[in-house]
Amino acid sequence: MSVRKEMLETMCLVANGLHTGETTRINHEQCPSGWDSKRRFYVTRKPDVLLGYCHNCQNSVTKYVGPKDRYRHDARYTTVQKDPEFQVLHAVSFNDDSNIPVEAHTWRVNNELTRAMCVNNRIQFSSEHFGIVTPVYNMEHRIGYQVRPLVQLGPKYITMLENDKLMGGFRIQSGKHSQQLPVVITEDYISAVHVHEAGYLAHCNYGVQTKPRMLYAMVNYFGTVRPYIVWLDNDSDHVRDKAKEIADVLRMFGATVHVELTAEDPKYVPTEIASIVGSYL
Ligand SMILES: [Zn+2]
Repeated sequence: MSVRKEMLETMCLVANGLHTGETTRINHEQCPSGWDSKRRFYVTRKPDVLLGYCHNCQNSVTKYVGPKDRYRHDARYTTVQKDPEFQVLHAVSFNDDSNIPVEAHTWRVNNELTRAMCVNNRIQFSSEHFGIVTPVYNMEHRIGYQVRPLVQLGPKYITMLENDKLMGGFRIQSGKHSQQLPVVITEDYISAVHVHEAGYLAHCNYGVQTKPRMLYAMVNYFGTVRPYIVWLDNDSDHVRDKAKEIADVLRMFGATVHVELTAEDPKYVPTEIASIVGSYL
């Protein structure tokens, strides 16, 4: 892919969080037809693609942004629910030994989670789905939950949301953190929990998709003084590309960003989080 096309594609990401049919516009940096300060690069969100067009140089680009990561939404469950309380699933606490099967405890131990970490971070067990229940946040607000079935038959995750708000966030406590504490952006909730345990601010991206609207809200909330570290599960070139894409968008919003490309998900290396994050500070 040419550098110019790649740059146009990255610019299109500014519209990724928009609703279908909406258009936004930005300056075409390094526009071949001359300096653009009138935001002449238009991007329109279509169902699965972003269409970019520069009214200065007349270059156009199409960027596919349809679902392709591992978080498949189950149409039966990704519906509007006004009250997404866990009781709907009869989810039980990890402290309730008589109702937690050995498979769930095995999952907990494999993920290096203590009972207290599960209780404090709203990680529960659902007998209805025979799976692990974790919350979904929009910044600090809980907007639903995900179930990870312990027996793999259907989708890896079943997602139930209160509404169509974007997924992304964690248990954010304003005013409790120093200005310099970094924010680590993770792909999954368990990794966010481990980052939090290690003493850093965690933002769960719920998958590898770039969500500029959510990323903008995050930078707006945490500010641009502290550094941001994008740390996804680097098990493929695709994921590494997505990490760089998220970093590009964060930089567009004025953030200082580092991308961890070598290590696995934080949840696989909980004892190394401090040294890995520390190496960027
Ligand atoms: Zn142009």
